[in-house]
Amino acid sequence: MNISGLLEQNARKYGGHEAIVDGTQRISYKELDFQVNRLSFSLMENGFKKGDRAIIFMPNTASFIIAYFACIRAGGIVVPLNAKLTKREFEEILQHSGAAAVFSHETLWHGIKDVNSADLRLKIKTGQHAEGWSSIEDLTSGDVNRDVFCSLKEDDDAALLYTSGTTGKPKGVLLTHRNVLNAAMMMCLEVSFKPESRILHMMPLSHSAPLNLFLAAGTLVGAAHIVCPAFHPEEFLHLVENEKITHFFGAPIAYLLAAKSQSILNCNLSSIQYWVYGGAPLSRKEVEYLKGQFRTENFVCVYGLTEAGPSGTLLTAEEHRSKPGSIGRRAAFGTEIRLVDENGFDVREGEIGEIVLSGESIMKGYFTEEEKTKDIIRNGWLLTGDLARRDQDGYYWIVDRKKDMIITGGVNVYPKEIEDLLVQHPDISEAAIVGVPHPEWGETVKAFIVTKKPIKDLEEECKRFLSDELAAYKIPKLYEAIDQLPRNAAGKILKQQLKKGNITIVQ
Ligand code: ATP
Repeated sequence: MNISGLLEQNARKYGGHEAIVDGTQRISYKELDFQVNRLSFSLMENGFKKGDRAIIFMPNTASFIIAYFACIRAGGIVVPLNAKLTKREFEEILQHSGAAAVFSHETLWHGIKDVNSADLRLKIKTGQHAEGWSSIEDLTSGDVNRDVFCSLKEDDDAALLYTSGTTGKPKGVLLTHRNVLNAAMMMCLEVSFKPESRILHMMPLSHSAPLNLFLAAGTLVGAAHIVCPAFHPEEFLHLVENEKITHFFGAPIAYLLAAKSQSILNCNLSSIQYWVYGGAPLSRKEVEYLKGQFRTENFVCVYGLTEAGPSGTLLTAEEHRSKPGSIGRRAAFGTEIRLVDENGFDVREGEIGEIVLSGESIMKGYFTEEEKTKDIIRNGWLLTGDLARRDQDGYYWIVDRKKDMIITGGVNVYPKEIEDLLVQHPDISEAAIVGVPHPEWGETVKAFIVTKKPIKDLEEECKRFLSDELAAYKIPKLYEAIDQLPRNAAGKILKQQLKKGNITIVQ
């Protein structure tokens, strides 16, 4: 079985079912399959071969989905990129991936229209063709000779996904059809996707969770994909109501923004079966707040990383009642989890260890980076770099990322613990804690604070607020108020920039 095969089967089984809703455009499974065949045939006629990489630099649109399946049907490897990347970031990935084709969208294409590389042979955009660029609409019309389609096996490469770049440069994660299908099947089981399901895609389809756990998984069962180029809280709530959405995946920040929206209490959100979140932590307090605002208990947390397809753990809606803020007590279907120490030995209950994962969704490796792959996959176990603790009931609680841990005077400080406390201050909206070099202690703890309104003596006030809760060595020694925390295109806080004092705000 391969991903393209799923679509073909569904076109036969659920031909008339809605496959994509993009604004006023509604495309059935039969029509989607038809368009995918035509685009795929055009790609092959233009020299695109099995194993070639195709960048998809498009917002969430019907064209994205058509390009995704067409590239795969032609035997290619999809490289979806976040539509917010700058030209420089785009060019780095263009070179690294050696992509033979680029798909772009009218709304984005201007920024990259003159990009080039030795491997790049096909440039395709939506709308009118332009110098050096073919029109996707032209390539999706015409006849198809299906004899040219290659046969695809589970171990063939399907996707090259770049990580968010939260801890450094994005890394190219190579996933096979088997990896993607396993992650997709896991999600179908965990959140009961059905042909009647209606999935809202407002998070970038360039990321592994929206792409594999929602687009691929939904297609597996013939569900409808409602696509929207960007997240706006009001539009999100209205789409849920008007399109009778049954499943939504969002980063925690999306839920928190929607919860503050004027419309949250007036919209009818009863069609939703599961509100799924992941990609970053939500504290117990935030989960409780969201449950109140969304008037439901049906939240599911997924924990994972691109390298795991991203199949890690799940906290079910039921488990949210007793353990909000945890990432669950079991690995997702088809995955195994352990918590290990520096030497790879399992840690005891209550002790902090690194999460390691194994299973059918774990990546084949980092693209062209054998050494880096060996460093992160050891004896079949993927080292996640996430530190966690298991409680007496077997639930895992993320403590922090290994790379963010601060060592001051020889003792470990976990920024997340301090950040979670600081945001409980009534006048603080966001906080980020980093370690900065110190001549005596190695590192010292520094806090970057975003306030709701000016705080008179920030340092004194924060120290006072934290003093009852934290040991003295954990209380930040340095404080800086900033307007906004720097985030990457995935919305994650860029602590490396804060450490370097190089604060660029990504809009
Ligand atoms: P890079 O690897 O380039 O630094 P990244 O790690 O942010 O970027 P992703 O693969 O997008 O790239 O993110 C995976 C990470 O996100 C996990 O390792 C974990 O730290 C965090 N994460 C994912 N899901 C959750 C969750 N439910 N709760 C807490 N943290 C999460």
